[in-house]
Amino acid sequence: MTRSSRIPIRFPWGTDPVRSTRRTVKPLRLNEKSKIQAPADVRHAPCLDPVEIRGLPLALRIARGGIVLVQRTIAEKVSCTGVGLHTGAPAQLTLHPARANTGIVFVRTDRGDAVEIPARSSEVASTALATTLGRGDATVATVEHLLAALYGLRIDNVRIEIDGPELPVMDGSSAPFVYLIRTAGIYAQREARQVMRVRRKLEVVDGDRRISIEPAREFRVTYAVDFEHPAIRRQELAIGRLTPERFERDISAARTFGFLHEVDGLWEAGFARGGSLENTVVLDESKVVNAEGLRCPDEFVRHKILDLCGDLALLGVSVQGHVRAERGGHAMHQRLVSEILANPDAWTVGAASRQGRGMSLARLAGAVRY
Ligand code: ZN
Repeated sequence: MTRSSRIPIRFPWGTDPVRSTRRTVKPLRLNEKSKIQAPADVRHAPCLDPVEIRGLPLALRIARGGIVLVQRTIAEKVSCTGVGLHTGAPAQLTLHPARANTGIVFVRTDRGDAVEIPARSSEVASTALATTLGRGDATVATVEHLLAALYGLRIDNVRIEIDGPELPVMDGSSAPFVYLIRTAGIYAQREARQVMRVRRKLEVVDGDRRISIEPAREFRVTYAVDFEHPAIRRQELAIGRLTPERFERDISAARTFGFLHEVDGLWEAGFARGGSLENTVVLDESKVVNAEGLRCPDEFVRHKILDLCGDLALLGVSVQGHVRAERGGHAMHQRLVSEILANPDAWTVGAASRQGRGMSLARLAGAVRY
């Protein structure tokens, strides 16, 4: 069993997450096709440090029985451009702050009708290799890595404008989107945020693949992948409490991966046209082909956890429960989401809170942070 979450992951902008370099956020250089338009003066970008959250007095409400956590959006609009992983088409993505209870909504701006597509599982049009959302003939593809960043950083409300059919893949991870959100800043809103509390275990089994969710006091993930490939083999990672800090530090920079022998088939089927060594970890028969190697030895299982976060975001509400996955993937994640929605007696939705009794000042500060 591999438990290597303490091994530092390498970020595109250096060794540290953005949070620790918030005073001197360097321009993020990705590759020739991807660019981020951050606010002009990113040195003063607010971040999750409690004293820097804009609207801090609104960050929580003291209510009977505990502290009620509030919804969050971004503090200002931010954009990035890049090419889609599967279409290869260039697109500009702009994140806008949104009112409380809006949720996460995609808008195709290159069409006259400006159709709004909520990021909900009811809008999933396809899960073939990537998650595609659609309403009528308006679709938006490869949404999972941006949704993972929003879910991981606990952003409840944002309007996402995109001028093409597929989101930019950037470097194949969520790190550029985390960077984008950090430079925009996070804004605490007045409304209480909702959380889904799992009350009994739900499980989906398909041969040697399985995924389950069971009651827990916070969002936990135990994930295992098992590939008969010398560079991957079995990798397992257990994350006891997947906080925004933990997501950013340990999960967000893990890149998507693919096998060289599958490339011809994918191209023939019209997939991976924008795929390259700049946005995908590519494996040949025995090793990783990318010259720079991996960002951490178990980057593969970490990316699976990243994908899981993006797929759970389609529930439209944060989950409090322990997900255990064995050889999972988008299809299994979506089946778990469907199983959850099909069993409303197995969970409740209510205001996210921290128990007030015996809470220390340090824990109070923690409550402000996530
Ligand atoms: Zn992915």
